Amino acid sequence: MAILTLREIGDPILRKRANIIEDIKSHHNLYNDMIQTLEKVWWVWIAAPQIGESLQVFIVRIQPTKSYPDLENKWPQIIINPTITAHCDKIIEDREWCLSVPWATPATGLKGKVPRYQQIQATRYDENGNQKEWKREWFAARVFQHEYDHLQWIFFLDRMISMETLCTSNRYQKSLNF
Ligand SMILES: [Zn+2]
Repeated sequence: MAILTLREIGDPILRKRANIIEDIKSHHNLYNDMIQTLEKVWWVWIAAPQIGESLQVFIVRIQPTKSYPDLENKWPQIIINPTITAHCDKIIEDREWCLSVPWATPATGLKGKVPRYQQIQATRYDENGNQKEWKREWFAARVFQHEYDHLQWIFFLDRMISMETLCTSNRYQKSLNF
């Protein structure tokens, strides 16, 4: 087990398309290292390029929604070789932030408004190589789209309609207090 180092924006690995994982069962060490890093550092989701591995896997910790109470309710969820197969027409704009943009302190962590589909349907493989169907909406769908983008070398900054909404976490907190 190892605690992995976070890669930040500007690192070339975050600007290339991650490779499909051909032999899913041979990467258990990577999945376990990512999970342990998440647990120790308390990151709630992370994609492999963010820790320097150009592979199509991300890990999330999300609960089922009211609309989809039967979704898997286990932590962690290891999302391997995901594909978004369908989405609704409705697009919601909301604030996002990213571990790699960076996030370390309230003064430097950046947030900005990003449009995302409200609902998505996706396929992915689990760590045992089983293909699974996923439906997600609202925040869970947003996180999925954000992490999926990391596998395609896209940052939330690239998706922003207006850079005017970009602010530090500090500044965002202040705006909530008005
Ligand atoms: Zn991110």
